[in-house]
Amino acid sequence: MSINFHSYFAEIVNAVSSKSKNNKVKIGAIIVNDDNVLLSSGYNSFVRNCNDDPRKLIHEKDIYIEHAEKNAIFNAAREGIRLKDTTMYCTWYPCIECAKAIIQVGIKHVVSLTEIEDCPIKWETSLIRGKQLLTECKVTTQYCQAPQGKPLGLEQTRVSM
Ligand SMILES: [Zn+2]
Repeated sequence: MSINFHSYFAEIVNAVSSKSKNNKVKIGAIIVNDDNVLLSSGYNSFVRNCNDDPRKLIHEKDIYIEHAEKNAIFNAAREGIRLKDTTMYCTWYPCIECAKAIIQVGIKHVVSLTEIEDCPIKWETSLIRGKQLLTECKVTTQYCQAPQGKPLGLEQTRVSM
């Protein structure tokens, strides 16, 4: 795949992530096929049709929020789009739960726009295990530098931007 498509998809992931109502962490994920056609997208969000009162983000985030990567998979399912042998681009490497979903639907390649060491420390273990599981289950992973000056899911990361 040419660098031009990497940059193009990175820009789309950033645009998708900006839709998240979580002001602290904005994650995007898109799924493309071998012809570089965009099949699905998702961002970290409240589950569909629930009351999306932002106060729920404070103490009940884990109950109401679905991750960007799984939302991209679910959005494809809603439309009957097959994801076998596709590529996912995401703001961060997927967590362990999203990694399992990626493996199970047959996504074959994952491109992260952020290195794990630049993600929040509280996510580090899950992202490392997610990446390890993807590799073990024959899903290839790759880091692709995000477009310069664009957010990487957080207002502040561990490195200056
Ligand atoms: Zn996840």
